[in-house]
Amino acid sequence: PRPALPSSVHAPLPVLGREVLVPLVTGGEVGYAALDYAASAPALQRVWDDVAAYAPYYGSVHRGAGYLSQLSTDLFEQSRATVAEFLGCRPGDQVVFTRSTTDSLNLLAAAVPAGTSVFVFETEHHASLLPWREADVTYLGAPRTPAEAVATLDRALAARAADGPALVCVTGASNVTGELWPVRELAAAAHAHGARIVLDAAQLAPHHPVDIAELDVDWVAFSGHKLYAPFGSGVLAGRADWLRAAEPYLAGGGASRRVARSADGGVDVDWHTTAARHEAGSPNVIGAYAIASACRALTEAGFDLLVEREQALVARVRAGLAEVPEVRVLSLFGDDAPRVGVVSFVVEGWNSSHFAAALSAEYGIGVRDGLFCAHPLLRTLLGAADQEPGECGAPEAAPGELPDPSAGGAPTLNAIRVSFGAGTPDEH
Ligand code: PMP
Repeated sequence: PRPALPSSVHAPLPVLGREVLVPLVTGGEVGYAALDYAASAPALQRVWDDVAAYAPYYGSVHRGAGYLSQLSTDLFEQSRATVAEFLGCRPGDQVVFTRSTTDSLNLLAAAVPAGTSVFVFETEHHASLLPWREADVTYLGAPRTPAEAVATLDRALAARAADGPALVCVTGASNVTGELWPVRELAAAAHAHGARIVLDAAQLAPHHPVDIAELDVDWVAFSGHKLYAPFGSGVLAGRADWLRAAEPYLAGGGASRRVARSADGGVDVDWHTTAARHEAGSPNVIGAYAIASACRALTEAGFDLLVEREQALVARVRAGLAEVPEVRVLSLFGDDAPRVGVVSFVVEGWNSSHFAAALSAEYGIGVRDGLFCAHPLLRTLLGAADQEPGECGAPEAAPGELPDPSAGGAPTLNAIRVSFGAGTPDEH
């Protein structure tokens, strides 16, 4: 028998001009817990404050001697330095501002030298899995322990026939299971075979210190909107040589140092060799400033404290879920694997999307449902290799009515994800 969901009181409330069905908790207060930090974490108040203080003064970066342009150029370059420090960059590393992790990894994929062999686990987020399709890619099967991941990579690299450049792309913390991957060991295996490694730190950087030199990875990619900054900015940081030798990611102003008509009727372009090479167009200075502000806030709060608080929350969520026999928590590496504040599960007999819709409508808990942009991984975790993705997203309901959480309860290829972070002690 399914647990009965209590019917609480609901009111359609106007939120930003739209009517949203919001549960009212006792006393008539509106309570809503947004537990989808793995998709986008709420920006810290301190980040909003920093951005608001700068907003009256922003101007275009690298665009002349005007006071506001100079100030913005200064803040943009200072933000780059703050990110470099946050990531423990080595001398000579470049920090390129991008739009997101997806953008960063696509940039690197466009910059790999011709003939590069790429190695990627099939369990990756699509942002890490898909950008390499033009290269010679080896997709590695799902490992069931961190040690197996290292052994699998080691074997694949040892068996590599080509002796050109090689690149490994791996995520630091899974956006589905929250599990930590053995980044240091994978980097050592890659380097032992002369390969390079890029770390997808989209889910790792908000939860753990990421030190590029200490992990000994060649590049790191992450997104501002998962690191308590708002949308629109990301980072690719790491070795300069491939980036410097590559064609600019986007062709345009800012990336070019000198442009002239050539004798053959075309144009001759002399591209920058700094990070600006891959930042053509007017840079997103507010996005970069916001990321730098979030990096400072996390550093000042101290990752020791943040990890301790978050691990207490992880333990509480997992203990609660363990009490419900119908719940199956998804895990690749097993129950004891270290993980960040990301927990995915399915509830036997329930359609995950409907369940998530009911959590929102009945309990005011916002979670993610679906396949989390990691379809091959979900197939493995759910033991449904041949199944097509099930229905994702909230079920249809008439305006002002609640969806029926048990409608269409047939098992489908989707799951529920709860994710959170400690943020800074003052704010969370
Ligand atoms: N990698 C991982 C592990 C992620 O969780 C995400 C976002 N869900 C991405 C990459 C892509 O990040 P973005 O959407 O900001 O490009």
